[in-house]
Amino acid sequence: NDPLIIDHLSKRYGNLTALSDMTFTVNAGEIFGFVGSNGAGKSTTMRIVLGVLSADSGRVLLGDRPIDLEMRRQIGYMPEERGLYPKMKVGEQLRFLAELHGLSSADARDNVVRWVTRLGLGERIDDNVGDLSLGNQQRAQLAAALVHEPTVLVLDEPFSGLDPVAVDVMSDVLKEKAAEGVPVLFSSHQLDLVQRLCDRVGIITKGSMRAQGSVDELRAGG
Ligand code: ADP
Ligand code: ADP
Repeated sequence: NDPLIIDHLSKRYGNLTALSDMTFTVNAGEIFGFVGSNGAGKSTTMRIVLGVLSADSGRVLLGDRPIDLEMRRQIGYMPEERGLYPKMKVGEQLRFLAELHGLSSADARDNVVRWVTRLGLGERIDDNVGDLSLGNQQRAQLAAALVHEPTVLVLDEPFSGLDPVAVDVMSDVLKEKAAEGVPVLFSSHQLDLVQRLCDRVGIITKGSMRAQGSVDELRAGG
């Protein structure tokens, strides 16, 4: 897999500078924790990576290629806000998303069953998303990010409000994907989780990267 490279991104909303010269790389097979307080610019960065927002300047690359629409389809994205339709069944919805990403209906069905089972939602596959507990909705949201076998993972506050069991299951899945060579970028304001899970951490304040390195390096430096 190729590394995900965030290269000198800047973004303003009107007079507010949300990102200024944001630069970092998530290597293949690495879990990179993107840490910063509310309003620091994490979601803005992720939305630019996803292509739902455009930067004023700077680029996003996969390896040595500027990311385009086709390459963006390889990204698995878990938004912070709920992104699934409450009135559609878990399994139906995940199959639909997998097929939207170009999987055959047989592959889509196989992947959905595999991920739903892996994430402990096997019994819930025919339930409407809106009838699940919040923790299970979050698991379904992660399944949605994974069903098309993405080669890059971008997760916006995936653990916020989760019970410890769900945190463990989801942490294991992220480690597994990284072990397969996927670059994994996730944001959090919970430092304890980040320390446990991440190979490297980037600390952002006011739209810029202040420090990055392994947890030990950041401890030594700070
Ligand atoms: P984070 O994800 O770290 O909480 P955001 O990227 O959401 O940070 O926000 C960065 C800054 O940009 C914040 O001050 C936020 O209020 C502002 N912002 C985000 N989205 C918009 C928008 N659509 N219009 C105006 N300001 C925005
Ligand atoms: P996050 O915590 O993920 O950054 P926010 O709560 O900041 O999310 O933003 C939720 C939505 O509101 C986003 O679409 C964001 O772009 C928008 N938004 C955030 N801050 C502002 C703002 N100051 N003015 C207008 N829109 C904003």
